[in-house]
Amino acid sequence: MTADLILGKEVSEAIYSNLRERIDVLKAKGIEPCLAVIMVGDDPASLVYVNMKDKKCKELGVKSLQQHVPADTSQEELISMIRKLNDDDSVHGVLVQLPLPAHIDQSEVIKAINPAKDVDCFHPFNLGNMVIGEADFLPATPAGIHQMILHYGIATIGKHVVIVGRSNIVGKPLANIMMQKGEGVDATVTVVNSRTERFEDIIRMADILIVAMGRPRFITADMVKEGAVVIDVGTNRIEDPAAKNGYRVVGDVDFEHVKEKASAITPVPGGVGPMTICMLMMNTIKAAEMGVRQ
Ligand code: NAP
Repeated sequence: MTADLILGKEVSEAIYSNLRERIDVLKAKGIEPCLAVIMVGDDPASLVYVNMKDKKCKELGVKSLQQHVPADTSQEELISMIRKLNDDDSVHGVLVQLPLPAHIDQSEVIKAINPAKDVDCFHPFNLGNMVIGEADFLPATPAGIHQMILHYGIATIGKHVVIVGRSNIVGKPLANIMMQKGEGVDATVTVVNSRTERFEDIIRMADILIVAMGRPRFITADMVKEGAVVIDVGTNRIEDPAAKNGYRVVGDVDFEHVKEKASAITPVPGGVGPMTICMLMMNTIKAAEMGVRQ
């Protein structure tokens, strides 16, 4: 058996076409959705992400406000920039590209963002609402995975979802989303980490295995149940002299072998990746629709 492919590009295109209609409605009311992105320093990977967000905003007709400040910017200066954006009614989404330089307390910076503009959904207010199933926003990568599951009609009710990784941006919020009551979720969720005993036994029980470890091709076919759905969040650069830049990107799953055992699988690249930015755009449009709340 060769698995069906779960493609983020296909899912995101369907969502973008809905977002374009919603943007038109907003513009007809005189509201131009606007996303402000603050970038501190010159981390090359962060610059790539910031540019991708800018490009996507422009493609959709969302105003992109980029603020790029030096790496030695103080925490107070950064928080003061955030407060100005919080107070600016023409700005609907505010995000600070992470990671931040070591002298800045990331948690304090996130808490300075008005939760109604927190389109990354990293603020504790929004995360708390997510846990009780009352979220305005959901964190982008987990929300994107949920949208993929819905789009492909993957059965989740009563299924065992095993998530590898417990980060604040992927594993923990995803576990919360998948365990909510309701159509398209309602799963039984296990989250494993590097300390988990009988790790392989547990992941072999997964009906849906979602992997966010940051370990290239760690999950091999013998760890996967026949017919499982496998979603690979991992994005790892490995050296490849034959590749254009001397490296290529692989997931946390040994795709070539696992695809022979799974019923459906995400490739890397082209799987989860395109969904993250798509969900950020969805949150920005939602923030513009909600208007500014204090
Ligand atoms: P992270 O914060 O580094 O967390 C990794 C998690 O994996 C941790 O919980 C860790 O366990 C667990 N882990 C690591 N090695 C393990 C092992 N040998 N056995 C069991 N568990 C292990 O990573 P993250 O931010 O969630 O990101 C994970 C991956 O997803 C990365 O490759 C990242 O680049 C990628 N990512 C992709 C997107 C996208 O849009 N496609 C978005 C976000 C992240 P402990 O907690 O015990 O250390």
